[in-house]
Amino acid sequence: MANGYNGTTGNGPTVYDSGSSAHQHLIEERMRERARRMREVGRNTPLEQCPALILNADYRPLSYYPLSIWPWQEAVKAIFRGTVHVISEYERVIHSPTAQMKLPSVLVLKDYISYNRKPVFTRFNLFLRDKWCCQYCGDQFKSSDLTFDHVIPRARGGRTNWENIVAACQPCNLKKGSKLPSQCHMHPIRKPHEPTLSELQECGRQFPPSFLHDSWSDFLYWDTELDLDE
Ligand SMILES: [Zn+2]
Repeated sequence: MANGYNGTTGNGPTVYDSGSSAHQHLIEERMRERARRMREVGRNTPLEQCPALILNADYRPLSYYPLSIWPWQEAVKAIFRGTVHVISEYERVIHSPTAQMKLPSVLVLKDYISYNRKPVFTRFNLFLRDKWCCQYCGDQFKSSDLTFDHVIPRARGGRTNWENIVAACQPCNLKKGSKLPSQCHMHPIRKPHEPTLSELQECGRQFPPSFLHDSWSDFLYWDTELDLDE
């Protein structure tokens, strides 16, 4: 997946009390505000402000966090390659010597991308798994205030992998130093494990996107599973 436009890079998510209705309300407000602003996208909007939201073949975003969006060039290339369907367009038009087209705002992949693959072991995915929460004190931090902690310290033979690395804030990391969890009574809140891609996808859904065109809202805001009656 192309990284594309991602307004949140480097800042990390804002800290939310996830799960509360106040949190939900905040997200909804924020999305509505963005939708109001982005409705302004018109014929003269700079091209780089016209990214396309990319949906998997099941019409759910390919990724929530970072949100799967492609810059307009990638989006147009995909249309010409025939790998996507156009779901929605901006008013913004681009011209070639012989033709013109409206830029796409939402694209859906023709082929479903499976989430059975293993996620890559990256700094981003690790923080996403731990939801930017220090696994010792439980507080949520920006990426820049988080570090990696080897649960079993490297000096004691601990490996650098999904099962032995957790997100930790700097004070907790310092406090733990190179001691074993049992020596300092600091045990990770959740036992570290290798997540599945769909698990990471679920983690990502908890963080609201930082950019929203109103043509995207049906696929983000309303993408909540409904409870079926028994
Ligand atoms: Zn901490």
